[in-house]
Amino acid sequence: MRQKKFILQEKDLPKQWYNIQAEMPNKPLPPLNPKTKEPLSAEDLAHIFNLECSKQELDTEHAWIDIPEEVLEKYTYYRSTPLVRAYGLEEALGTPAHIYFKNESVNPLGSHKLNSAIPQCYYCKQEGDTNVTTETGAGQWGAALSYAAKLYGLEAAVYQVKITMQQKPYRSMIMHTFGATVEGSPSMSTRAGKDIITKDPLYPGSLGTAISEAVELATTTPGCKYTLGSVLNHVALHQSIIGLEAEKQMEMAGEYPDKVIACFGGGSNFGGLAFPFMRHVFDGTHKNVEFIAAEPESCPKLTRGKFEYDFGDEAGYTPLLPMYTLGHDFKPSNIHAGGLRYHGAGMIISQLLKDGYLHGVDIPQLESFKAGMLFAQTEGIIPAPESCHAIAATVREALKCKETGEEKVLLFCLSGHGLIDMPSYMSYINGDLQDYQISDEEINKYLAGVPHIEPKI
Ligand SMILES: *Cc1c(COP(=O)(O)O)cnc(C)c1O
Repeated sequence: MRQKKFILQEKDLPKQWYNIQAEMPNKPLPPLNPKTKEPLSAEDLAHIFNLECSKQELDTEHAWIDIPEEVLEKYTYYRSTPLVRAYGLEEALGTPAHIYFKNESVNPLGSHKLNSAIPQCYYCKQEGDTNVTTETGAGQWGAALSYAAKLYGLEAAVYQVKITMQQKPYRSMIMHTFGATVEGSPSMSTRAGKDIITKDPLYPGSLGTAISEAVELATTTPGCKYTLGSVLNHVALHQSIIGLEAEKQMEMAGEYPDKVIACFGGGSNFGGLAFPFMRHVFDGTHKNVEFIAAEPESCPKLTRGKFEYDFGDEAGYTPLLPMYTLGHDFKPSNIHAGGLRYHGAGMIISQLLKDGYLHGVDIPQLESFKAGMLFAQTEGIIPAPESCHAIAATVREALKCKETGEEKVLLFCLSGHGLIDMPSYMSYINGDLQDYQISDEEINKYLAGVPHIEPKI
């Protein structure tokens, strides 16, 4: 019988994360203090984040970083995750390509976000913090953080974008179940929130605003640290567990991927799967692997954004980050893949994109759901709307193989399941969804708000 799933035993889980920063041909530019425009040190970052993550953020020396024993132990609750050969999808497409996916949807919270929530809360606890705070859009990160905080006895306060809180009530219920405090953002509990509500009482909220609120809470509350589920280097570091497992599992399958594909919000599931494979491009053992980041057509920072220093949030509280950005006040269309509606790409990814190691593809909303439906019907898993973008990009590649007759090996990340996003599927099925294109004029309007910094280095 042909093998469908490849699973590592707990004892074979990777014991170290892979830090790609140490091996990149060109290191990412440093984050800058927005006032002085000087590069930030780990101590500066530690005003907002825990110290260990602040050090990991700037670590360009150590390629391998030990996973703490206590974190590994929590990883065993749901890891390894299966590597699965998508025979059903292959047959439906009639493609000679071999399609594999890394199934990060199998933990009860339903996405890859837990891989970083656990170590972030662990380090906060180790350093004597009592509280953590964050923002969340669709709610996957907030849910993961709420659970991880509970594991280590920390209080979690989550600012959830108001509109998604109303549209997707189940994730805030999950956060409450894990004992977190959840506030709709903009809220009246912070200055940033109050300012926005005063100007526009009906503002539906955005990730940028929610970040401003959480950062404000962390900087004004003793013992409280801010945590982020995407974009930053230390998050990609923790997520490298995905690709390191996948590398061993591909070996069990006797194959090596020609193309590695993941959806792209801030880059954590993409980086998590891709970076361990990319190290073989750097060392020349597998030079021709193609890395494809699938972003929504309506939020095209990789294909149409600009490489600039920009803020990570709307109010301009965060450090200036060197990244491909659409501008920090970019207002994305209200697509259902909430986790992909972010204006910028992580610093590592941005540098790698600039250097030609990966490329973005833009996926229209309807194409993403069409691919997600096909995947659900052939593999029995309903994918998160975000993950549907990776599936759509994979389907495009598989159909190219069908034309050329090439037996390429495709590997994509199933970053999460969509069981709490069913209203989105129902809207698609009822024909109520649409595509959103964005004009160059509109993009240029937002890019005009980028601060245009020349770093003093
Ligand atoms: C958050 C999220 C994403 C997008 O974030 P990345 O950092 O780009 O991975 C993608 N898929 C799922 C299921 C998510 O929860």
